[in-house]
Amino acid sequence: MHGLILFLVAAACLCRGQAQRTVALTFDDLPAAGRLPLAEARQVNEGILAALKGAGAPAVGFVNEGRLEVAGEFDRRLSLLRSWVDAGHDLGNHTCSHLDLNNTPLLVYQNDILKGERLIRPMMAGAGKQLVWFRHPYTHTGPTQQIKFNLELFLKRKGYQIAPFTIENSDWLFSDVWRDAIRRGEREAAGRIQAAYLDYTETMFGYFERLAAERLPVGAEVPLDAGQLLFGPWATEPLLATAHRYCLSDTARP
Ligand SMILES: [Zn+2]
Repeated sequence: MHGLILFLVAAACLCRGQAQRTVALTFDDLPAAGRLPLAEARQVNEGILAALKGAGAPAVGFVNEGRLEVAGEFDRRLSLLRSWVDAGHDLGNHTCSHLDLNNTPLLVYQNDILKGERLIRPMMAGAGKQLVWFRHPYTHTGPTQQIKFNLELFLKRKGYQIAPFTIENSDWLFSDVWRDAIRRGEREAAGRIQAAYLDYTETMFGYFERLAAERLPVGAEVPLDAGQLLFGPWATEPLLATAHRYCLSDTARP
């Protein structure tokens, strides 16, 4: 998922027989993945925050602090993160360097988690909040049971909760071709990709909701987590208009 720009993850709680779904929105790779130029990164962040505000939806933004390290732009990129906190949203740790646990020694990975909270932990504290959310890059939770277990223990000791997701919609594939179209000035193609993305996302929402309803006992609360790419506000606004009720990750879970 190296090509993704921002990754929206939604955790939905669906009770059988209950029409409304509750979705917890999260966005990965803040302040911006894909080595976006500062102006573009600002545009994407501001657009998403405006869409969230319009929908009255809270969200968690998962940060790679390593993405701030751009010569001469550190402070301005850091201010993008602050704008999330100022808008009332939470930040989460997504490791400093977006490491892949499948090919990184556990100790190196753990150090990268600690390195990834140096700025966001005090930033959250400044807003009277605790840093609690962690998401594994690439959703790789450990190549062996032992590594997975040891990392979970480490996270627990550091006060983290893992924020998973369960709806996959190949968002990064859409992202890459959409961005290519925009850069070539092919607006019409970009529009078609946008429409295809939104259709596909809706299909995947439905698929995973049905799957959860089939697999879990009647009356059980179903935590669903959806992965969806946000190319920018054009994807955020329609999604927020069609999905249901929004909440933070912890309140979406049983
Ligand atoms: Zn990521």
